[in-house]
Amino acid sequence: NSLSPTGEQKPRILLMGLRRSGKSSIQKVVFHKMSPNETLFLESTNKIVKDNINNSSFVQFQIWDFPGQIDFVDSAFDPHMIFGGCGALIFVIDVQDDYSDALLQLHSTVTQAYKTNSNIKFEVFIHKVDGFGDDSKMESQRNIHQTATESLIDAGYDQIHLSFHLTSIYDHSIFEAFSKVVQKLIPQLPALENLLDILNTNSAIEKSFLFDVVSKIYIATDSTPVDMQSYELCCDMIDVVIDVSYIYGVREDQEAAFDEKSSSLIKLNNGTVLYLREVNKFLALVCILREDNFEHKGIIDYNFLCFRKAIQQVFELRNKTNQMLNMCNVA
Ligand code: GDP
Repeated sequence: NSLSPTGEQKPRILLMGLRRSGKSSIQKVVFHKMSPNETLFLESTNKIVKDNINNSSFVQFQIWDFPGQIDFVDSAFDPHMIFGGCGALIFVIDVQDDYSDALLQLHSTVTQAYKTNSNIKFEVFIHKVDGFGDDSKMESQRNIHQTATESLIDAGYDQIHLSFHLTSIYDHSIFEAFSKVVQKLIPQLPALENLLDILNTNSAIEKSFLFDVVSKIYIATDSTPVDMQSYELCCDMIDVVIDVSYIYGVREDQEAAFDEKSSSLIKLNNGTVLYLREVNKFLALVCILREDNFEHKGIIDYNFLCFRKAIQQVFELRNKTNQMLNMCNVA
């Protein structure tokens, strides 16, 4: 993670993989709201594209979209430039294709990156699993996991750890995987999880997520397990809130469809309530709770205000520490 001159933590994520593995599609779907079907018409990338996601998203990172084969030995790429300040490297493997070349490329990329920067988190996206049954998903994951890990051990890199995620842009798995990748890069995560646990206990909330609104990546959730359906419900809620705000809420002098007054309440016919509140410019809290428990909305709202204040303090503390560190570095 590199520090910007203002002292903000900017985790950098690299997105790599063979050509046509789906890198541009992932980037467009997660960060630019492109619908999965539109990615069919994306032009193939043949140069490094640096996508700085800075302005609208809390998750401040940079995606380097590489064209397939990079020959690290005689290429003009400087590994320190590529891997130096990088927090995580996502390697995308197209599982619908013959992936033996991809596995070779994964091996050479990971070892090269590790030699340059041993702090990088390695994340393998076993991608395009839409249309796969549960069995074949597991089968592919086992296969890829085994081959990739064995080849690293054989080459004497048993200290390198790879994490695997089954992903597709046609469902929420890509958002879920990105959430996990990003969470590993947020140093405040334990504090955030703790705050969410406290909020849940005191407000009889069943599940709560802290969302980056633009990307629908959740940067933290409480300590109960995540089930995909709840996560999808919350994602859909954000879409609804933003869409309705865009249509009816945005005045000409305003840019954002999301501000400090943003909040929303959706009652489902199974006795569940979804409740969304703005936390800061980038983040929203989305909670799932039983309708009976929502009768004490006053308490929930009060607890939420305490929660929001605590979140601000967690981030301010971090920024101050970073600024001090930065000054020490400069000195
Ligand atoms: P890149 O060269 O790695 O940037 O690959 P692209 O993003 O251009 O994707 C190549 C093709 O894969 C496109 O036609 C996409 O529509 C398709 N694709 C990307 N992600 C998925 C996925 O999750 N499932 C399926 N079935 N196709 C995908």
